[in-house]
Amino acid sequence: MSTPRPSIDVTAACACGAVGMAVQGPVVSMLLCACLDCQRATGSGHASVALVPATALTLTGTAKSFARPADSGAIFTRNFCPDCGTPLFGQSSRAPDIRMIPVGFFAGQNAWFAPGQLIFARSQQAWDLVADHLPRHATYREAVRP
Ligand SMILES: [Zn+2]
Ligand SMILES: [Zn+2]
Repeated sequence: MSTPRPSIDVTAACACGAVGMAVQGPVVSMLLCACLDCQRATGSGHASVALVPATALTLTGTAKSFARPADSGAIFTRNFCPDCGTPLFGQSSRAPDIRMIPVGFFAGQNAWFAPGQLIFARSQQAWDLVADHLPRHATYREAVRP
Protein backbone atom coordinates (compact mmCIF):
# COMPACT_ATOMS: atom_id res chain seq x y z
CA MET A 1 0.00 0.00 0.00
CA SER A 2 1.50 3.30 -0.99
CA THR A 3 0.53 6.68 0.38
CA PRO A 4 -0.87 9.14 -2.16
CA ARG A 5 1.73 11.76 -2.99
CA PRO A 6 0.05 15.13 -3.40
CA SER A 7 1.32 17.88 -5.63
CA ILE A 8 1.43 21.08 -3.62
CA ASP A 9 1.75 24.80 -4.21
CA VAL A 10 2.18 26.59 -0.89
CA THR A 11 3.89 29.74 0.32
CA ALA A 12 4.39 30.93 3.90
CA ALA A 13 6.71 33.01 6.05
CA CYS A 14 8.32 32.56 9.45
CA ALA A 15 6.83 34.24 12.53
CA CYS A 16 8.77 37.49 12.05
CA GLY A 17 8.43 37.53 8.26
CA ALA A 18 12.16 37.68 7.50
CA VAL A 19 12.27 34.30 5.76
CA GLY A 20 9.76 32.79 3.38
CA MET A 21 9.46 29.37 1.82
CA ALA A 22 7.49 28.29 -1.20
CA VAL A 23 7.10 24.67 -2.27
CA GLN A 24 5.75 23.79 -5.67
CA GLY A 25 5.48 20.28 -7.02
CA PRO A 26 4.95 16.68 -6.00
CA VAL A 27 5.77 15.51 -2.49
CA VAL A 28 8.24 12.62 -2.49
CA SER A 29 7.37 11.17 0.91
CA MET A 30 5.52 12.07 4.11
CA LEU A 31 6.46 10.77 7.53
CA LEU A 32 6.52 11.27 11.26
CA CYS A 33 9.87 11.07 13.03
CA ALA A 34 10.10 10.48 16.78
CA CYS A 35 13.91 10.55 17.02
CA LEU A 36 15.33 12.42 19.99
CA ASP A 37 16.68 15.17 17.75
CA CYS A 38 13.24 15.81 16.24
CA GLN A 39 11.70 15.82 19.72
CA ARG A 40 14.12 18.56 20.76
CA ALA A 41 13.76 20.50 17.51
CA THR A 42 9.97 20.52 17.62
CA GLY A 43 9.45 20.68 21.37
CA SER A 44 6.99 17.82 20.93
CA GLY A 45 6.81 14.05 20.54
CA HIS A 46 7.59 13.87 16.86
CA ALA A 47 8.27 15.90 13.75
CA SER A 48 5.77 15.89 10.87
CA VAL A 49 7.83 16.05 7.72
CA ALA A 50 7.24 16.22 3.96
CA LEU A 51 10.16 15.33 1.70
CA VAL A 52 10.33 17.31 -1.52
CA PRO A 53 12.89 17.65 -4.32
CA ALA A 54 15.37 20.44 -3.60
CA THR A 55 14.27 22.06 -6.85
CA ALA A 56 10.68 22.36 -5.53
CA LEU A 57 11.73 24.66 -2.69
CA THR A 58 12.25 28.40 -3.02
CA LEU A 59 13.68 30.24 -0.02
CA THR A 60 13.46 34.02 0.36
CA GLY A 61 15.55 35.81 2.96
CA THR A 62 18.52 34.36 4.79
CA ALA A 63 18.31 31.26 6.95
CA LYS A 64 20.72 30.19 9.65
CA SER A 65 21.72 26.55 9.79
CA PHE A 66 23.00 24.05 12.31
CA ALA A 67 24.62 20.78 11.21
CA ARG A 68 25.18 17.70 13.35
CA PRO A 69 25.74 13.98 12.81
CA ALA A 70 22.50 11.95 12.65
CA ASP A 71 22.03 8.37 13.80
CA SER A 72 22.38 7.29 10.16
CA GLY A 73 25.96 8.54 10.08
CA ALA A 74 24.92 11.31 7.72
CA ILE A 75 25.26 14.99 8.57
CA PHE A 76 21.83 16.46 9.18
CA THR A 77 21.41 20.21 8.76
CA ARG A 78 18.48 22.12 10.23
CA ASN A 79 17.71 25.56 8.87
CA PHE A 80 15.81 28.16 10.83
CA CYS A 81 15.07 31.87 10.89
CA PRO A 82 17.98 33.66 12.63
CA ASP A 83 15.62 36.24 14.12
CA CYS A 84 12.54 34.34 15.34
CA GLY A 85 13.81 30.73 15.31
CA THR A 86 10.99 29.30 13.19
CA PRO A 87 12.12 25.90 11.80
CA LEU A 88 12.52 26.01 8.02
CA PHE A 89 13.81 22.98 6.12
CA GLY A 90 16.21 20.16 6.90
CA GLN A 91 18.62 18.32 4.66
CA SER A 92 20.81 15.25 4.90
CA SER A 93 24.27 14.76 3.42
CA ARG A 94 22.97 11.34 2.33
CA ALA A 95 20.18 12.82 0.20
CA PRO A 96 21.49 16.17 -1.06
CA ASP A 97 18.69 16.53 -3.61
CA ILE A 98 15.92 16.26 -1.00
CA ARG A 99 14.59 18.89 1.38
CA MET A 100 12.64 17.99 4.52
CA ILE A 101 9.85 20.42 5.23
CA PRO A 102 8.25 20.73 8.68
CA VAL A 103 4.63 20.71 7.57
CA GLY A 104 3.63 23.03 10.42
CA PHE A 105 5.45 25.81 8.59
CA PHE A 106 2.49 25.80 6.24
CA ALA A 107 -0.05 26.02 9.05
CA GLY A 108 -3.52 26.58 7.67
CA GLN A 109 -2.58 25.14 4.29
CA ASN A 110 -1.29 21.65 5.09
CA ALA A 111 -4.46 19.54 4.97
CA TRP A 112 -2.78 17.57 2.16
CA PHE A 113 -0.37 15.98 4.64
CA ALA A 114 -0.91 12.22 4.97
CA PRO A 115 2.05 10.54 6.69
CA GLY A 116 2.77 7.00 5.55
CA GLN A 117 5.01 5.87 8.37
CA LEU A 118 6.49 6.65 11.76
CA ILE A 119 10.26 6.39 11.92
CA PHE A 120 12.34 6.16 15.10
CA ALA A 121 9.40 4.50 16.82
CA ARG A 122 11.96 3.18 19.33
CA SER A 123 12.00 6.59 21.01
CA GLN A 124 8.31 7.43 20.59
CA GLN A 125 6.59 8.15 23.89
CA ALA A 126 3.27 6.64 24.98
CA TRP A 127 1.81 10.12 25.49
CA ASP A 128 2.50 11.02 21.87
CA LEU A 129 -0.54 9.61 20.12
CA VAL A 130 -0.02 8.42 16.56
CA ALA A 131 -2.65 6.72 14.38
CA ASP A 132 -2.67 2.96 14.97
CA HIS A 133 -2.65 2.09 11.29
CA LEU A 134 0.65 3.82 10.53
CA PRO A 135 3.57 1.46 9.85
CA ARG A 136 6.22 1.88 12.51
CA HIS A 137 9.93 1.46 12.02
CA ALA A 138 12.32 1.20 14.97
CA THR A 139 14.74 3.49 13.15
CA TYR A 140 14.70 4.10 9.40
CA ARG A 141 12.67 2.27 6.84
CA GLU A 142 15.06 0.52 4.47
CA ALA A 143 14.49 2.88 1.57
CA VAL A 144 14.30 6.14 3.49
CA ARG A 145 17.23 7.41 5.53
CA PRO A 146 16.72 11.11 6.14
ZN1 LIG B 1 11.64 34.86 11.41
ZN1 LIG C 1 13.92 12.72 13.55
